[in-house]
Amino acid sequence: MLARQVARLYAKGSVMTGGRREKNKDVWWHGGLYFSCLQCGACCGREPGSVSFTDRELEAMSDELGISTEEFLGSWAWEKYGVLSLREQLNFDCVFLHTDNGRASCKIYAVRPSQCSAFPFWPDLLGDKFLWDSYALSCPGMNHGEFHGYDEINRILAKHRVGFKSSPRPAGLI
Ligand code: SF4
Repeated sequence: MLARQVARLYAKGSVMTGGRREKNKDVWWHGGLYFSCLQCGACCGREPGSVSFTDRELEAMSDELGISTEEFLGSWAWEKYGVLSLREQLNFDCVFLHTDNGRASCKIYAVRPSQCSAFPFWPDLLGDKFLWDSYALSCPGMNHGEFHGYDEINRILAKHRVGFKSSPRPAGLI
C-alpha cells in the first residue's frame, strides 16, 4: 500500500528527481540505511494506490508475459491518478501480487517497474527523513536488516532515474 500511495505524488508531479541530491554528502542518509524486504506485501496492496511504469518497463513486462504491449495495456494496466498504472485486484492489491502462506511475491518480479524495485530508496523518502520514518512504521523492512551505504543508494537512484521521472500519459491509451 504505502509504496503505491506515494505514487500519487508521482501522478501529481511532486516527486523529486533522483539526481538532485546525489553529490550532497549532507543528506540525512549519508551514513547509509538499513533495509531488507520481509515480503509482507504491505507496500503492494491493501489500500488504493498506483504503480506507474516507463515504456521500456512496459515492453519488459509484456515480454515476460509473452504478449504485446497493446495486450498488456488492455489487460493489466489502467489510468489512475492521471498516470498509467498497473491494475489492482478488488482488495486493492496490485494485480501481480501473490500471497502464499502469508508470504507475498510478485508474479513479474524480474521485470517489475522501478517504482517497486527501488523501494524504499525513492527520492521522496530520501528527501524527507520524517517521510522515511513515517513509512517505516508501515514497512517492517525499513531500518532493519541489510545495510545499504551512501554510494549504493546513489547507484539505486541513478539506475532508476528514468523510472522516477516517468511522466503522466494521456487518457485513452488503454
Ligand atoms: S517488508 Fe516493506 S518492502 Fe517488503 S513487502 Fe513489506 S512493506 Fe513492502
